[in-house]
Amino acid sequence: MDHSELLKMTMGAPFYAEQAGEVALFEHAFRQRLPLLIKGPTGCGKTRFVEHMAARLGRPLITVSCHDDLSAADLVGRHLIGAGNTVWADGPLTRAVRSGAICYLDEVVEARKDTTVVLHPLADDRRVLPIERTGEQLVAPPEFMLVISYNPGYQNLLKSLKPSTRQRFVALTFGYPNAAVEQSIVMTEAGIDTALAARLVQLAQALRRLTDHDLEETVSTRLLVMAARLVAAGLPLRDACRAAIVDALTDDAETAAALADVVDAVL
Ligand code: ADP
Repeated sequence: MDHSELLKMTMGAPFYAEQAGEVALFEHAFRQRLPLLIKGPTGCGKTRFVEHMAARLGRPLITVSCHDDLSAADLVGRHLIGAGNTVWADGPLTRAVRSGAICYLDEVVEARKDTTVVLHPLADDRRVLPIERTGEQLVAPPEFMLVISYNPGYQNLLKSLKPSTRQRFVALTFGYPNAAVEQSIVMTEAGIDTALAARLVQLAQALRRLTDHDLEETVSTRLLVMAARLVAAGLPLRDACRAAIVDALTDDAETAAALADVVDAVL
């Protein structure tokens, strides 16, 4: 790919503000045919990053949001019963391997354990997808890349990646972006001015310092962007923060009151 081609692809990619060298790391992993594991809290930019990188590298992206009922057959495919016959239908992972796409498995620890049987041979140097039902052994083309993510914050002992899975992947740890980066994200995503973006980021930082309340997760960049969008649409700042941040974070009245106090103090 020459420079002008790369530039064109980057221009068509969804906006992504880099945190710390992750763009180069992804590119190296892609070229070295290594699978990637992205760890980080919800709403910190993992999905946007993968979307950005897929567009930048000129590869189609197939995303699967994993849930506790997701099985290997959901990923690989199954025979469907048609009019008098059965037809094989590729699942999203098989389609990604066949087409040399980037396959992103979001919240992979949620998926059923039998998924590791198909992920392991694909994630190590064999790069092969065994399709048990058809007997096919699909060899991944060089452009295929497997990316998985999970949120270590939600983790419990029953739902974590086994070392044998984890050690097949290059890992990248995401946190919330630093203040300058987060400010540029909020401005770009919501179309608000610098002063307002700076205040919202200041609020996020104050809320993230609150540790003595029973919050499963704190305010994410996603929630900040949502608040900023409501303000850009004309909602008063405090109402926007109440709806997009405080009430989105907790159901507990006491915790909500504590968060609202921080909002009042900062804004
Ligand atoms: P995750 O996948 O980690 O849950 P997302 O990638 O969906 O989070 O990010 C949520 C939203 O936050 C995005 O839709 C985007 O508006 C914004 N966002 C977060 N981080 C970034 C970033 N680094 N660059 C651009 N937008 C970002």
